[in-house]
Amino acid sequence: MPVKRGPGAGLRNDPVGSYDPAIAAEMARQRAAKRRTPEQAAELRAKRLQWSRIAGRMKPRVFEMYGTLCWLCQRAEATTADHVTPLSKGGSVDDLVNLRPCCASCNYARGDRDPEEFRATLRAKFPKVKPSRNWFG
Ligand SMILES: [Zn+2]
Repeated sequence: MPVKRGPGAGLRNDPVGSYDPAIAAEMARQRAAKRRTPEQAAELRAKRLQWSRIAGRMKPRVFEMYGTLCWLCQRAEATTADHVTPLSKGGSVDDLVNLRPCCASCNYARGDRDPEEFRATLRAKFPKVKPSRNWFG
């Protein structure tokens, strides 16, 4: 059987029937190489727990300084503190300059994307919705 390389290669339910254990093994090896080790995962969990505790502590001060309207959608009441520069990109965890009030859905949906990029997504998704304040706050 000829070895298929390209789409479907290494897939067990490849309709063409060109499943190749060698390619599948190589793909599995590449996936495994990208995976975090248990130690790395535990370290990341511990760090995130610490971050969330710090964010919880900072929240009242963030709301006091910036108000309680979500800084991304400018519509929802903020229940979380969002990091302007994501922590995963080296943003400060407890600097008020790096924190903004944010609703939970925006905070979660934004992830570690650029705020402008996320706002553009919002505008594309809800073209008729006008922000109640300056969207670019
Ligand atoms: Zn929001």
